[in-house]
Amino acid sequence: MKNTTRSFISGILVTLSVLGVIGAAAAASQQTATLDYADIKITMDGQVVTPTDANGAAVEPFAISGTTYLPVRAVAKALGLDVTWDSATSTVVLTTPEAEKSVYITRTGEKYHYDSNCNGGTYWAVPFETATGMGLEPCSKCVH
Ligand SMILES: [Zn+2]
Repeated sequence: MKNTTRSFISGILVTLSVLGVIGAAAAASQQTATLDYADIKITMDGQVVTPTDANGAAVEPFAISGTTYLPVRAVAKALGLDVTWDSATSTVVLTTPEAEKSVYITRTGEKYHYDSNCNGGTYWAVPFETATGMGLEPCSKCVH
């Protein structure tokens, strides 16, 4: 076991954070857990991902009863996803950045579509940036 004091303090801070988040949603859901810091590392396609908090301070992954808990913002960022927190519903909202979404186009159409079956045409998927780069406009029927 490495640096027990630091792990203990981190464990308390994480526990408080977890309880704080859970507590805001439903106070009755509070639980106490033993956090296992085992020098857990994250890589994405071979590249090391160093999770940090909103202030850039390192955040160490941990495990509870064999399940590994990773900071979702760092993982989402590594995957190229946008992440927001909906406090009203206590939901982590992951979204594909608009520029990376696939859209559907036809050979001669002037619109791009989110629905690959819109209007019953024959579509093929292209990156959003390709469609907008071709000057195509959003379909009023399926693009919201
Ligand atoms: Zn459409």
